[in-house]
Amino acid sequence: MNEFVARHINEASAFRVEATAPGLWLTEALDDGFSYSIRTHRVLSQAVSPFQRVEVHESDSFGRMLVLDGSFNVSEKDEFFYHENLVHVPACTHPRPAKALIIGGGDGGAAEELLKHSCVQSVTLVEIDQTVIDAARTHLQAIHRGVINDATGHPKLRVHIADGLSFIKRSADRYDLIILDLTDPVGPSTPLYTRDFYQACAAKLNPGGLLGLHIASPFAHQDRLVSTLTALHGGFAIVRPYMVTVPLSGGPWMMACASNTLDPAMLCATAVDARLSSRGIADLQYYNGSTHCAAMALPNFVRTALLETGARTR
Ligand code: SAM
Repeated sequence: MNEFVARHINEASAFRVEATAPGLWLTEALDDGFSYSIRTHRVLSQAVSPFQRVEVHESDSFGRMLVLDGSFNVSEKDEFFYHENLVHVPACTHPRPAKALIIGGGDGGAAEELLKHSCVQSVTLVEIDQTVIDAARTHLQAIHRGVINDATGHPKLRVHIADGLSFIKRSADRYDLIILDLTDPVGPSTPLYTRDFYQACAAKLNPGGLLGLHIASPFAHQDRLVSTLTALHGGFAIVRPYMVTVPLSGGPWMMACASNTLDPAMLCATAVDARLSSRGIADLQYYNGSTHCAAMALPNFVRTALLETGARTR
């Protein structure tokens, strides 16, 4: 059995219900004591780029899945849980975002969401790995809906193959939104979870601009959550963490917005719904004014964990 594919075949006793079903189980560890598995039945592509192993699998419950170095990155069936909350919280908090930058996001899902905002005039996507873009263009049309396609892609979108850290440092441009849609902090994304990088992002935002990013599991990655939010507070006056659910990430998942002037928690549900409507956005599967406000409500254990980070948790 190909070593790329059979990541972890669970003992029949562990999956007695599915023991008779065909398929290979891919397993992701949320921490060293908690793993979860997804049954796949076809490998659509595999490649080793200079940065990571890049695989696309066909799964029963999540549809097509992008797996990078064995980590579940995005899937057809649940991508809207992740991309709508990553993008529309900062985008709706800004009164009129025109120019946006996405760092990472090679599957095109975040770009597709941003381009729904009629006020957005340009989106620059900076992905370090051409192999990811190629795999997405070939196999993940259901996620990006063609916006990153080479010849027929969205006219407002520019795709650059570059390291996000060097791009942000040398860029002369300023943005209303910067969205970090990165792999977890291992390998090439590691330097993009630091105070220096967040300060570099802050310097490339227009007045009233916002940074949006995903961070970690509030249950399994509290250290990473605290270090990332503390680093963010080194670059921004207002750091607002929020909590959503992302099935592919194993459940609850923390994201955040950072800005020197805007706080997403200051928007009421009616204001969010009015902004969505005024920008011609009506076809979302998850995000609305009520879910925006609900995401800002943090459980006590998260508030307690974040006490020393400087983030706003109430
Ligand atoms: N939804 C995913 C998650 O939650 O982990 C993220 C998906 S997106 C495919 C992550 C992308 O970040 C990958 O394609 C990876 O190549 C890219 N990336 C990692 N480090 C980068 C860097 N330094 N500059 C630009 N892109 C980077």
